Amino acid sequence: MLPRHGVTPALIYEARRRIAGQVVRSPLIHSTALSARFDADIYLKLETCQPSGAFKLRGATNMIAALIERHGQDGLAAGVTTASTGNHGRAMALAAARLGVPATICLSHLVPANKVAAIETLGAEVVRVGESQDEAFGEVERLVRERGMTLIPPFDDPLIAAGQGTIGLELMEDAPDLDRVIVGLSGGGLLGGIGAAVKAIRPGTRITGVSLARGAAMWESLQAGRPVEVEEVESLGDSLGGGIGLDNRCTLALVGEVMDDHYQVSEPAIAHAMVDILEHEKLLVEGAAAVGLAAMAEYRIDVQGQRVALILSGNAVSLETIDRARKLTGR
Ligand SMILES: *Cc1c(COP(=O)(O)O)cnc(C)c1O
Repeated sequence: MLPRHGVTPALIYEARRRIAGQVVRSPLIHSTALSARFDADIYLKLETCQPSGAFKLRGATNMIAALIERHGQDGLAAGVTTASTGNHGRAMALAAARLGVPATICLSHLVPANKVAAIETLGAEVVRVGESQDEAFGEVERLVRERGMTLIPPFDDPLIAAGQGTIGLELMEDAPDLDRVIVGLSGGGLLGGIGAAVKAIRPGTRITGVSLARGAAMWESLQAGRPVEVEEVESLGDSLGGGIGLDNRCTLALVGEVMDDHYQVSEPAIAHAMVDILEHEKLLVEGAAAVGLAAMAEYRIDVQGQRVALILSGNAVSLETIDRARKLTGR
């Protein structure tokens, strides 16, 4: 029987076969400093090692490769498209270039030139349109309708969530007796995919989600039992901003099924976690990748004696933002 969200263990194993060699099988390291601090075994999954700087390469590569398997290379001749400036846009551009598929990314005129250049460097064509993310997305819809391009969504598709879920398979191989996995939560492809994989192998492992204190669309939607819109606010964890889509068809049901508990972290907690990871682990992570540690510290989550994995999901952070985080911590 197929679950409503469509993310089966079989789909995740297929994803792993498909993305092998295209995506880094990232290291899981044991953190001495954090293990001592929390009297637990704390492991860090380094998705910051992906060539695009974040785990989103897994989902994008899986979806584009699956569509090539299904429709042939010619079936994707019109190319793939999306409207993201962030980790998803970079991931799609890189995945498409490697798989020989043209990529078009629609960006509003508000997106700064350095971000546009970064996307173009990865081989994607950038179309500038409108003054907002919504207008850019309108152009994506037009390209799909009129030019036959294929939309690669950032999270809400079983192929995307299954791609992110390959992280869960790797975790279970490298640390088979994990008690808990703590995952940043926005659209829910990452947490949903990891949760589906981990629960299929070890149902007792807790899946803990962490979102921003404000604008946590997935959390509000789970409370309401349907997708709701939230106001987007500026945050050190900007990769966790944004809605889940009012027509969400996959990740809301999936996250509702696999997530055991949930926390919302403050900006100072994110700042402290980013600086801690930089100072003690010598790893540069963006705010969204530090929320697991932020939640452990801010809520004093009881992990004593447990084996816990934190997903360091990405490293898209500027020196300016690191400065902002340091100022917030006073360190
Ligand atoms: C996208 C993203 C997330 C959240 O993933 P979702 O699938 O949207 O929940 C977390 N961390 C980073 C760095 C991201 O880019």
